[in-house]
Amino acid sequence: MLNLQKIAGNTFLIPGPTNLGVYVEGGQATLIDSGNDKEAGRQILRLLKEKGWSLKLIINTHSHTDHIGGNAFLQKRTGCRIAATSREATFIEDPILQPAFLWGGFPYSRFTHNQFLKATPSKVTEVIPSSGKILDTNLEAFPLPGHFWEMIGIRTPDNILFIADALFPEEVISKYHLGFLWDIRSHLETLEKLKTLEAEIFIPSHGFPTPQINALIEINRYQIQEIISTIFCFCKKPARFNQILAGLCKKYKIELNTTQYLLLSSTLKSYLSFLGEEERLEMFFSEGEAFWRANKLK
Ligand SMILES: [Zn+2]
Repeated sequence: MLNLQKIAGNTFLIPGPTNLGVYVEGGQATLIDSGNDKEAGRQILRLLKEKGWSLKLIINTHSHTDHIGGNAFLQKRTGCRIAATSREATFIEDPILQPAFLWGGFPYSRFTHNQFLKATPSKVTEVIPSSGKILDTNLEAFPLPGHFWEMIGIRTPDNILFIADALFPEEVISKYHLGFLWDIRSHLETLEKLKTLEAEIFIPSHGFPTPQINALIEINRYQIQEIISTIFCFCKKPARFNQILAGLCKKYKIELNTTQYLLLSSTLKSYLSFLGEEERLEMFFSEGEAFWRANKLK
């Protein structure tokens, strides 16, 4: 069962597989992300009701299912507004795009029957910019692109920073190694920028609240550099996409399932694009197949 913990002042945390934030002013609650599914929404509503708070707004940090899964239920029950950045809003309102985007074609029914890859649609009533004051609240958005298109973090007036999926906990990295990433270059820039942010407490969506994130930033950055070097090594001889994917699974002892396959394939493609743009890899075709090879000059 979800529960509500006070962090500071008017800022609360609902800890869970995906951490959620609540900021309350005058009995009105703004929710930061809405959990995995309808059941999360149901439990969130119960927690708010116990406190006598009404839900006025949900702000989604980005459009991944575990951050928006409670939207539809909560919006239906309370009529609350939902705010998100433009690209994320597109995915929130039309969640079939998520498996279609990950697969890169019409999604096979095994991808769409998986709730993890497809949330119930909800209506984004307010498209917000990635930075600055959020609507009529006292919350402030800051851009954290990389993990997904236009992901944002949120600062509350208590100087608590919700940093979404910009950082993964050490345990998750040592278990899964290859966290989902969309834009490697933007993500690396986001990690640098995170070092300059100050806050009383940082709250990542996965893991625990912490007053200090610099060590965790380095762990996350190191892991990405290691993946980059590994892919580069695999391509010393021309390699097919599936060979590189299999190599990563073998090295990191990853067992594929439907969800893992989609997330990993998409992430690997993003790394290949990054290495291509850096001119460390080049792509070529031979006898109806695409290959990636390390650029000898790099
Ligand atoms: Zn995410």
